Amino acid sequence: MAVDEEAPVPVLVVGAGPTGSVAALLLARLGVASTVVDREPRPYPGPRAVHLDDEAVRILAQVGLAAVFAGLSRPATGLRLLDARLRPFAEFRRDGPGVHGYPQSNLFDQPDLDAALRTALHRHPLVTLRTDCELVGIEEGRPVGAVLHGLQGTERVRAAVVLGCDGARSTVRAAVGAGLRDLRFDERWFVVDVRCRSGIPTWGGVDQVCDPRRAATFLPLPGDRYRWEFRMHPGESADALARPDQLSRLTAAWGVPVTELEVVRAAAYTFRARIADRWRSGPVLLLGDAAHLMPPFIGQGLGAGLRDAHNLAWKLAATLRGAGPGFLDTYERERAPHVEAVIRGAVRVGRALTGGPHATAALRRPLAGLLLRVPGVRGRAQRGIATRYPAGPLVDRRRHRADLPGTPCPQPTVLVERGPTPLDDVLGDGYALVTDGEPDAALAARARELGARTVRLGIDVTDDGVLREWLAAGRAAAALVRPDRIVQASSPR
Ligand SMILES: Cc1cc2nc3c(=O)[nH]c(=O)nc-3n(C[C@H](O)[C@H](O)[C@H](O)COP(=O)(O)OP(=O)(O)OC[C@H]3O[C@@H](n4cnc5c(N)ncnc54)[C@H](O)[C@@H]3O)c2cc1C
Repeated sequence: MAVDEEAPVPVLVVGAGPTGSVAALLLARLGVASTVVDREPRPYPGPRAVHLDDEAVRILAQVGLAAVFAGLSRPATGLRLLDARLRPFAEFRRDGPGVHGYPQSNLFDQPDLDAALRTALHRHPLVTLRTDCELVGIEEGRPVGAVLHGLQGTERVRAAVVLGCDGARSTVRAAVGAGLRDLRFDERWFVVDVRCRSGIPTWGGVDQVCDPRRAATFLPLPGDRYRWEFRMHPGESADALARPDQLSRLTAAWGVPVTELEVVRAAAYTFRARIADRWRSGPVLLLGDAAHLMPPFIGQGLGAGLRDAHNLAWKLAATLRGAGPGFLDTYERERAPHVEAVIRGAVRVGRALTGGPHATAALRRPLAGLLLRVPGVRGRAQRGIATRYPAGPLVDRRRHRADLPGTPCPQPTVLVERGPTPLDDVLGDGYALVTDGEPDAALAARARELGARTVRLGIDVTDDGVLREWLAAGRAAAALVRPDRIVQASSPR
């Protein structure tokens, strides 16, 4: 076995899926070099994610992919619940830009995004991408030893930090002895992507068919592509369901002859709900599907991986530059409770919409109608599951008991000297202090210590009504915003 006697690489990213790719690109943006290894020569071609929310798109924008993603996605109008005869009985609209500056709900095809991320990895001088290179073992220590198996045989490289972004069957997770806690959901679904040149009538959003005999989801993807997901019955196989006679039966209610459909890809998946019992073992950290699995009913799995990368990248960059080791402890502490809430939400939605005996389906229709009239419920359903991290070293709710710390700063387009600009471009890559009036002395001092860029509303930026309202609603005169756009602390008005 070849042993690498060279200096350890700063960061070894295992897995060039969306989570590992975005982690490497975020680190590179902060000046941290990484080596990314993936055992496959090309991105996974199967049918997977089709939905991303505006917060996840904001993260893609931070690695320079906003325009690329806009070109390969389409905004969705929201979610409808339909009965077995495809009659809508509830509608949650999510059209228009969200608080993060992008459409609230976006439909795309994961292989397109994975390919765009691959290109970005290849292009970045601070990222070394090695494909056909599998991590087969980890020797814990500082630096960490990583045993890689590639086309040239087996070798050992040393890394200051290893990021396990190697998906559901993570080798890194197993190597550090972390287990998966079962949040009790196991269902087999048939997923099929088709092209249909003549078009399939759609309202432009996601349709969830709440029929316990055959729960289904239908999504219009960009161009002439469409996705169906059908819950499978015991004994069914993806191969059989993809045959024209069976596919024709499954899709009959949509009224499109099966001869008009070209199957692009089809697969059976078992949707599971699991979360790692430990996300970190010293300098080895787990992200994305390696750390959590969720059924796709609210389209959040990939987004959760991007949020992991976003939460971790700046903390890791700071740690590698000498910040205390406690900094990295906040990663799991912040991310795990949020992800667990999202998984439980996805399971609840899945069960409520598609599970249960036939009697429940009959009840569901009036129930959904009633629920939608309860104040707050419609808004919550429309907003999705908002990020809110618990109090800790990097979320200070002690000094000012406001609502803002732990939640993201919105991203309106504001006016600066050079013209209308997305707020993130004004905030920069480090800490920022957004003020509408004077921050208190303690917050101002903390901001100075952290080298925060000050953004004064009405002075440095105008056309800033969204930010003024946001601070006012949080009873704050100023908010200290972390590099991942989460508010660390605020000071009272
Ligand atoms: C049917 C379906 C629908 C979905 N819909 C949505 C949706 O609408 N919205 C959403 O947000 N999410 C959705 N998801 C979830 C989403 O696809 C995943 O959460 C996402 O792909 C996870 O990204 P990742 O980078 O963490 O892992 P992966 O995409 O699995 O990438 C892991 C990478 O690691 C590599 N690898 C694995 N082991 C090793 C090793 N030992 N050495 C080197 N490389 C290795 C693999 O080759 C792979 O490239 C859906 C999933 C499915 C199955």
